[in-house]
Amino acid sequence: MFFIFKPTYVFDKVPDITPEFLKKKHIEGLLLDLDNTLTTHNNPVVPQSSLEWIGLMKANGIKLMIVSNNHAPRVTPFAQQLGLDFECEGAKPLTFGYSRAIKRMGLDKRNVAAVGDQIFTDVMGSNLKGIRSIFVFPIKPEESLPFRIKRACEKPFLPKFDTSCK
Ligand SMILES: [Mg+2]
Repeated sequence: MFFIFKPTYVFDKVPDITPEFLKKKHIEGLLLDLDNTLTTHNNPVVPQSSLEWIGLMKANGIKLMIVSNNHAPRVTPFAQQLGLDFECEGAKPLTFGYSRAIKRMGLDKRNVAAVGDQIFTDVMGSNLKGIRSIFVFPIKPEESLPFRIKRACEKPFLPKFDTSCK
């Protein structure tokens, strides 16, 4: 039953995902997690590395949408800075947010993958939705106790990076 926690592909961080890789895997759209995937938790600043990567993806015709469990006041200004569509209150690992986003993208779900840093939300949600997932390691370890507990629970399911992305 642990397949539900298994990502399809694994990268160290978002900027390592290349247009060439996505083309090879027939991925035309990405559903992007926000916190600790594109930037650190609740950080309003877009890191240069994420900014450049998003530009590269757009230039290569990859459709992008942010799907975050966070709330509108957090997600809206961040997405607007990047010129990206978004779904907030994504309720991952439930699939409503992913379903809405895929519909808005107008792509077949077989050509869509979700990118995120958490096994129990991003990866599990993708598996429940029946789409591929790209796991990236969190940008920065969280310090709050609930998060540390969550990360400890994730540990047995964490993939070794570079195993499946070649
Ligand atoms: Mg996250």
